[in-house]
Amino acid sequence: MIDIQSVSKSFLTRDADPVHALNDVCLEIYDNEFFTLLGPSGCGKTTLLRLIAGFEAPNSGAIRIAGSDVAALPPQKRPVNTVFQSYALFPHMSVAENIAFGLEMQNAPKSLIDERVRETLEMVRLEGFATRRPAQLSGGQQQRVAVARALAPKPSVLLLDEPLSALDLKLRKGMQSELKRLQRETGITFVLVTHDQEEALAMSDRIAVMRGGDVLQVGTPRDIYDNPQDRFVADFIGESNLLPGAALGRDPAKTIVVRPEHIVVSPASDGARGHARGAVSAITFLGSDTLYEVVLEEGARLHSRSRGGAALATGDRVVVHWARDVERELAN
Ligand code: ATP
Repeated sequence: MIDIQSVSKSFLTRDADPVHALNDVCLEIYDNEFFTLLGPSGCGKTTLLRLIAGFEAPNSGAIRIAGSDVAALPPQKRPVNTVFQSYALFPHMSVAENIAFGLEMQNAPKSLIDERVRETLEMVRLEGFATRRPAQLSGGQQQRVAVARALAPKPSVLLLDEPLSALDLKLRKGMQSELKRLQRETGITFVLVTHDQEEALAMSDRIAVMRGGDVLQVGTPRDIYDNPQDRFVADFIGESNLLPGAALGRDPAKTIVVRPEHIVVSPASDGARGHARGAVSAITFLGSDTLYEVVLEEGARLHSRSRGGAALATGDRVVVHWARDVERELAN
């Protein structure tokens, strides 16, 4: 659906130093996919979204949407619609008028507009709110109107720029599954921008992890979680233990990555054998899980996450163990 070929983008600042926002980015986003651009602040994800939408032009490279090069197309001529972080609803218009806006711009017949407004209001579960003004809605409801407005013209691609960041945690979780449902129901390709790795893992069919204008890794959430390609991805996605080879008596040039849920901590007094010995330095109760921080004899620190709680106390001497097949070795 979207083919990004060697796209670069830099901005000139006042002192004429170029900021390289995107470096030679290549990406394929498939039809009917929930795709996420994930990375820390400033990594270039919003810039990439704005290039797809047509609000910015690349310095080099090409973008094809549904098979056509879109270089010459202004935003309103692209088969794409955007949900902005701020929602950008028109305050003086009712919910129904907001949703109808895009179709009216396209001179769609009134009967079609009415039908789409009804349909999308139902889709986002806001039947009965058609005549309200945005100011008379909660944040979560305004978010739904913004999504309905973007979906009403039936774009091929929906771009979502940090759409949930203004919502509180509980509402955000609810909207995550709502957006996922909307993507499945409509079959429209969704491209989400977020810096929240949990959100990306929960919602996406595939994720592109970005840093400093580069795409570091593209894959399914499971793929990226289980097989991070480098230290940055391992550290950014989920919780991870990055253990220097030297601390485990191995090649000091390599780092081992092990997820906390794969690390078993046992009392040293059991005579249990493990990969390393240490002492429990902190215990955090998380409800269903307990998190143990262990300082190894060699000085490295690691975290273990387990269901329920082993009978351990802070200061206890322990051995740590994990299965060889959960280790990932990183050269950098
Ligand atoms: P955030 O999550 O903070 O929005 P982001 O990953 O979306 O970050 P971008 O907004 O794409 O990052 O910005 C990428 C880089 O390009 C940053 O260094 C940013 O300062 C710079 N940049 C973006 N837009 C402009 C602009 N119009 N002029 C100058 N520099 C810009």
